[in-house]
Amino acid sequence: MNFHVLTLFPEMIDQGVHTSITGRAIDKGIIRVNTVNIRDFAGNKYGQVDDYPYGGGAGMVMQPGPVYQSYQSVIQQIGYKPRVIYLTPQGNVFHQKMAEEFSQDEDIIFLCGHYEGIDERVLEMIVTDYVSIGDYVLTGGELPSMVVMDAVSRLIPGVLNNDVSAEFESFHDNLLEYPQYTRPVEFMGKKVPEILLSGNHPKVEQWRREQSILRTMKQRPDLIKSANLTEEEERFIQSLKSKNTK
Ligand code: SAM
Repeated sequence: MNFHVLTLFPEMIDQGVHTSITGRAIDKGIIRVNTVNIRDFAGNKYGQVDDYPYGGGAGMVMQPGPVYQSYQSVIQQIGYKPRVIYLTPQGNVFHQKMAEEFSQDEDIIFLCGHYEGIDERVLEMIVTDYVSIGDYVLTGGELPSMVVMDAVSRLIPGVLNNDVSAEFESFHDNLLEYPQYTRPVEFMGKKVPEILLSGNHPKVEQWRREQSILRTMKQRPDLIKSANLTEEEERFIQSLKSKNTK
C-alpha cells in the first residue's frame, strides 16, 4: 500500500513513520510512505505558499496553486486518481470502520493543512474524504495523517507479526477488548485472574467475551447497541441492567 503525504513538513512524517511497527513494514516493502513537500511547488523564489485571507481575519491561508501542483505530481507518478483525504477538524471523525475501508485501497493521498487551513477551491477540486481525528484543533494535519496511516497500516496483512491480533482488538464487533495480563502472576499483591491460568481455552474465551461486554457497557455504552451479540449475551446484559436499577 502506498501513502502519499502532501505536507509543508515532510521531515515530521518521515521521522514519525520510520519507527517501530510502521518502520519495519516500510523496510519490508509492505507499505510505502511518499512525502511530497508542497513548498517545492511554490512557484516563487521565496518558497512562499500562504497568503492573507480575502475578507480579512487572523492568520494565513495555504494557496491553491502549490497544493494542486503537488497533487498533480503524485497523479502523474501513479497514473490514476486515488482517494484524497484532507485532514481537518471539520471532517467526519475517524473510526475503526473507516480504517478498514481505507486499508482496501492501493494508494491514498493525505493532504495536511497548516495555519488557518487551505483555500477552499483546491479542496473542492481534489479532496474525496474530509477526516478529523477528534473535536479539537491542532496546528497541522501531519499528526492526524500519521494517526490514520498507523491505524490503516496495522490492518494490512504482514504489518503485524500476528494478523489475528488486529481482528480481535477493541472496536472489532463494536466491543472493547478484554483486560490483558502478562508475567509475573502476582504483582504487588494483585493476582492474574485464575481462569487465565487454567489452560481451559473455551472457558478463557467465554471469560474474555464477558469482560469485553462488561467493559464496553461501562466505558462505551454507546457502542454496545451496535455490537453483534448472541441471544444469551443479550440476556446477560439485561440481567446486569436490571441488577443495576434495583
Ligand atoms: N481554521 C481551521 C478551522 O477552524 O477549521 C483550523 C486550521 S488548523 C489550525 C490547521 C490544520 O491542522 C488544518 O488545516 C488541518 O489540516 C489540521 N488539523 C487541525 N486539527 C485537526 C483535527 N482535529 N483533525 C484533523 N486535522 C486537523
